Amino acid sequence: MTLAIPHVRPVSGGLPGPIPPVVGARLTVPLVDGRRVPYANLDHAASAPCLAAVRDAVDELLPWYASVHRGAGLASQVSTKVYERAREVVRRFVGARRTDAVVFTRNTTDALNLLARALPRTGGTGTSVVRFDTDHHAALLPWRGPLVRHISSVGSLDRALQDCPTGPRLVVVTGASNVTGELWPVADVAAIARHHGARIVLDAAQLAPHRPVDVRALDVDYVVLSGHKLYAPFGAGALVGRADWLRAADPYLAGGGATSLVADRDSRLAVSWSTGPERHEAGTPNVVGAHALAVACETLGRHWDAIIAHERALLTRLRAGLAGVPGLRELSLLGGDRVGVVSFAVDGQDPGLLAAALSAEHGIGVRDGAFCAHIATRRLLASAGATGTRALRASLGLGSTAEHVDRLVGALRSLVTHGPAADYEQVDGRWTPAPDPRPLPPLLAAL
Ligand code: PMP
Repeated sequence: MTLAIPHVRPVSGGLPGPIPPVVGARLTVPLVDGRRVPYANLDHAASAPCLAAVRDAVDELLPWYASVHRGAGLASQVSTKVYERAREVVRRFVGARRTDAVVFTRNTTDALNLLARALPRTGGTGTSVVRFDTDHHAALLPWRGPLVRHISSVGSLDRALQDCPTGPRLVVVTGASNVTGELWPVADVAAIARHHGARIVLDAAQLAPHRPVDVRALDVDYVVLSGHKLYAPFGAGALVGRADWLRAADPYLAGGGATSLVADRDSRLAVSWSTGPERHEAGTPNVVGAHALAVACETLGRHWDAIIAHERALLTRLRAGLAGVPGLRELSLLGGDRVGVVSFAVDGQDPGLLAAALSAEHGIGVRDGAFCAHIATRRLLASAGATGTRALRASLGLGSTAEHVDRLVGALRSLVTHGPAADYEQVDGRWTPAPDPRPLPPLLAAL
C-alpha cells in the first residue's frame, strides 16, 4: 500500500506497524465529582506529549551533558558531537540540501523572527514579503514594513508578486493550518513563487508532526518547526534553509559562540562573526533540546506509515462523531486532506465553558479560543454561520485513542443537550468549576 499524500513525499509500502509510545499515556486526572479517569489529551496541536524514545535518549545524554563547543573535557566533546549530529538528523528529516543551514532556535516563532531579521536589505529596496492573512500569528507578525503585503487566497499570489518592486522576495506558506488541520497546496504556492523569482518559507509547525516534509520535493527554500509539537518538548526548534541570506545577515543575537574572533583595535571592538549556523545561535546552545528534537525526527521517520494510518482512522471517527452533535459547525478553510485537527463551534454554547466542562467533568483536554490565528478563526466562524469569535479545537496525535475520541463526542452530546453538571464561574476570563475540589499533583504541592 502506498499512501499518496498531496504535496508531501509518498510513504513507502508495507503494513503499518505499532505507533511509537508517548510519556503520560497512563496519566489519570481528577474530576469535579471526585472520580479519577485516564486523561484524554486532545490538544496535540498546541504541544504534543514527549515520545518515550525522546525521554530515554535525554536520560542517556544527561550524564554526558556539558557545555557545547567550549570545553576540553570528554563530556563537553560528546555534547558537542551530539549537538552537531542533531543538525544532520534534522536536515535529513526535512529533506534539506547539503548546503542548507540548520539553525537551532527556541521554536517556530523564534525561527521565523530570525528569518525576518535576516532578509536582505541591500539594493535600497529590501525584501518584499507576501503572506496569507489566515496564517498563525507566528507566520503573520514577524514581517514589518512597506514591502509586506498580505493576501487571502492562493488565487491572489501571482498578482501580489507581480506588484512587488524589483529585489528579493519571500512567500510565507503554512504546511497545515493550526485551526483546521487542512493542508495547504505548498508545491503550487512554490511554483507560483518561483515564476516570480521569490523564495518560499514553509511553516511546518503543524505539518511536520504528522506527515513527511521534503523541502526539495516541495521546492521550498526554508522550513521552520517546533520540537514541542514534534513530541520533543525540550525547548528547541529549527530554521533550515538557504545559507546565503543567513550568512550575510547580522547575527540574530550578539554574544559568545557567534564569533570567530573578537579583538581590541585602537580601543574599538573588532568582531569577526562566524559564517556557519552558530552565527545565529549566540549563547550556550540547548544541546538537550537539539538532541531531543533529532531523536523525535528519527523516531517519526521510522514510523510514518503507522502514524498516518493511526491518525487517519481517529480523524475519520472524530469527524463522523462530531457531525452528530446537535448544532455543531465544523470550520473549514480549504477542504481536502488534513492532519488530525478539527475546530468547531456549537450553536448557543460558549466554547470556553464547554472546554472547562470537558476537562472538569470528563477529563478531556482541548483548546478553546482563536488559536493565535485571529483572522482565520473569525473568518472561518463567519463562513460556517457561527456567531462569536472563539471556537473549540480537538487535535489528535500519538497520544490519542479511539476511547478519547468517543469520550469527547459523548461528552459534547451530553453537555449540549443537558448542560454542565457542575457550576462554573469566570476567573480572569476563563471558566472554572465553582467550587473546584480537584487536587493538584504532588509536584505542585509546595505552591
Ligand atoms: N505556526 C503554526 C501553524 C502553529 O500552529 C504554531 C503553534 N501553535 C506556530 C507557528 C508557533 O509555534 P511555537 O509556538 O512553537 O513558536
